[in-house]
Amino acid sequence: MHLERLAVDPSVGLAMPPQRLVDALSDLDVPVELVDEDEQFGPGDAIVSFGHRDSFIDADWVHCVRAGYDEFPVGVYDEAGTYLTNSTGIHGTTVGETVIGYLLTIARRLHVYRDAQHDHEWTRPRYEEPFTLKDERVCVVGLGTLGRGVVDRAAALGMDVVGVRRSGDPVENVSSVYTPDRLHEAIEDARFVVLATPLTTETEGMISAPEFEAMRDDASLVNVARGPVVDEDDLVTALENETIAGAAIDAFTEEPLPESSPLWDFDEVVLTPHVAAATSKYHEDIAQLVRENVEHVAADEALTNRVV
Ligand code: NAD
Repeated sequence: MHLERLAVDPSVGLAMPPQRLVDALSDLDVPVELVDEDEQFGPGDAIVSFGHRDSFIDADWVHCVRAGYDEFPVGVYDEAGTYLTNSTGIHGTTVGETVIGYLLTIARRLHVYRDAQHDHEWTRPRYEEPFTLKDERVCVVGLGTLGRGVVDRAAALGMDVVGVRRSGDPVENVSSVYTPDRLHEAIEDARFVVLATPLTTETEGMISAPEFEAMRDDASLVNVARGPVVDEDDLVTALENETIAGAAIDAFTEEPLPESSPLWDFDEVVLTPHVAAATSKYHEDIAQLVRENVEHVAADEALTNRVV
């Protein structure tokens, strides 16, 4: 592959100001330009994008600015011989901190006070409500970049950390690693279950009614993975029936979450609009990944984070 142009698709605007990314890449030897959504591509073109467009298939290489590439038709790229790379590896700190924020919010009841603040209400919790994260068990499902970002921070707070990993191999700071076929054992004693897997045929609907039944009734579910990893109807039922105590959800089956969703109205649910990885330095993190791969192309080396 010989790169003649690096095109920045306007869809990156969903994650960062596009011009900031263009500026951060301006030191590359290859020309970088912000293109329109109807731009056509050909050999020599590389594209940095949030989402897929059919016109991308004619380029040599597409870099997705997200870790999850489930919305890209991977088979089509593979067949066309168009390289696809993703942005895994950069979200451990952002998502890790967000998840710890959810856990602390729920344990220390911060959402309750913030809600009361809107009504100028001086509210104190029931004596039994607040708890500390220290010594509480968190089960992290998926021990990649996101998962380990959560694990290390939870361990630093003195939490009892267990996890689920396909290989079952040990991971630093995780006291017990379960394989996915032992998911119920992994989650049954946890106060928090954190989902950090990609959306695949294996993980779609991984958390539904039987898993909520297996969870403790004082447990909260955290989903920073992808919406369809959780059966949202079953989640609503589990919250209504108090099968579980609460949830913190960043990723939804339909985004934006429809106004009619019952999820908006639970006191014990913290919702964030798919921003767990948001940071004002996102353009720098993406530029670093792209720069590294532009250098790999020039040196005829394998691409980092290659999907196909
Ligand atoms: P990663 O590839 O570093 O890690 C994913 C891990 O999940 C891998 O270790 C993989 O082996 C594991 N896994 C796959 N299937 C599994 C299963 N059935 N059971 C247990 N583990 C399984 O990716 P990452 O950067 O950690 O991102 C993970 C996913 O999180 C992405 O694919 C994306 O969908 C989502 N994500 C969301 C946000 C957000 O803003 N909410 C940000 C980044 C990533």
